[in-house]
Amino acid sequence: MSVHVIGAGLAGLAAACQLTELGHHVVLSEAAPHAGGRARSYDDKQLGCRIDNGNHMLLSGNISTLSYLHRIGARRSLSGPAEPVFPFRDTSTGESWTLRLNMGGFPWWVFSPARRVPGSRLWHYAALLKLRKAKLGDLVGPMLGGAGPVYAKLLEPLAISALNTMPERASAAPLAAVLAETIERGGYATLPRWARLGLSETFVDPALDWLRARGAEIRLGERVTALKPGEATVVAVPPRAAAELVPGLVVPNEFESICNLHFKYKMKPGETGFWGLTGGMAEWVFARAEVISVTISAANRYAGMENPLIAARVWAELARTFALPDETPPCRVVWEKRATFAATPEQLKRRPGTRTANPNVVLAGDWTDTGLPATIEGAIRSGNAAAMALLHPQT
Ligand SMILES: Cc1cc2nc3c(=O)[nH]c(=O)nc-3n(C[C@H](O)[C@H](O)[C@H](O)COP(=O)(O)OP(=O)(O)OC[C@H]3O[C@@H](n4cnc5c(N)ncnc54)[C@H](O)[C@@H]3O)c2cc1C
Repeated sequence: MSVHVIGAGLAGLAAACQLTELGHHVVLSEAAPHAGGRARSYDDKQLGCRIDNGNHMLLSGNISTLSYLHRIGARRSLSGPAEPVFPFRDTSTGESWTLRLNMGGFPWWVFSPARRVPGSRLWHYAALLKLRKAKLGDLVGPMLGGAGPVYAKLLEPLAISALNTMPERASAAPLAAVLAETIERGGYATLPRWARLGLSETFVDPALDWLRARGAEIRLGERVTALKPGEATVVAVPPRAAAELVPGLVVPNEFESICNLHFKYKMKPGETGFWGLTGGMAEWVFARAEVISVTISAANRYAGMENPLIAARVWAELARTFALPDETPPCRVVWEKRATFAATPEQLKRRPGTRTANPNVVLAGDWTDTGLPATIEGAIRSGNAAAMALLHPQT
């Protein structure tokens, strides 16, 4: 069978790889001159180095992602610690702590004050059990807000990063789905992982090479404006573009931005790493050899602020927290205005399934109904599901 995959983000790449692996001929069309969509790297002229559009964090429980990387020969291109450890800094108080999960399935780390969130009591972790019962209409803030420091220092920043939506509006159900596949399965499933060199080097370029080597046709810079009748097609474009291609499709229509700041700053060997941040504007910082990259999730709240002001404020937070020089170094501010759909109950109800009314046309993308928030794992899983749905039409 010949299949047209439209969109070379991670969902489209995953679908293309799955179909190719199963012996089908794939034509992959991508509107942009490069593949990768919302997860890509590029050479930044202003900073004079290569950067990612934004920091992307994975956990070792993201099994569809790890299988995808294994398939395209890029599994070793991830970095991360051998233990499930998460260092945190509060940028307003300077407090620092490290969450240290244990490797096995039974979470004995919660019984050890040295491993858990400072100031937390055992009963605060009952919030994790409560979360298991979360329904679509339950909101993160009201549901978990009673968990004291476990909420303020762990669940709230985690929810903002994973759902890219502020907790008072975000549904707790997709957060519960993330935790069920990671923290609840134990430390083996909660090892932090990120692309060692860059997103494109890990997720995109090896996939394109793998596809080309197996005869897939890759057409970059080709925007598809209409589906060809009768052609087996995976529509793996963002929700708005999908609704233009598939008449009558209901899709999420409210979005949240993510703002990433890349500061050109040479770290000393041994000082690189990542930290979760609380008490300020940002949620994560990755200090690499030449660049310190900071992520502000659910960033619509800062949309009215000028970039130089955001850069100055974020650098001031970093400078006092990590004892860096006061002067703001050269900085590239990257806004992804439609980074993900807003994970509110209303928007989650608008996620379509994989199949459409036309058995030849299936959908893929982090915005389809994967049960997960809009993440790499969701995107890749949706691509795999779309490929299988196309090959096994419902009777
Ligand atoms: C700044 C940022 C930080 C993030 N951080 C994380 C993180 O830490 N962890 C995590 O797991 N996830 C993270 N995500 C989410 C993750 O990047 C996405 O879930 C994932 O990349 C989505 O892939 P996709 O294939 O579904 O969509 P996209 O990447 O949007 O791909 C869709 C593709 O379709 C193309 N296209 C559109 N219209 C057409 C057309 N008509 N014809 C042909 N092609 C078309 C687009 O150009 C695009 O390449 C982050 C996202 C952003 C933006």
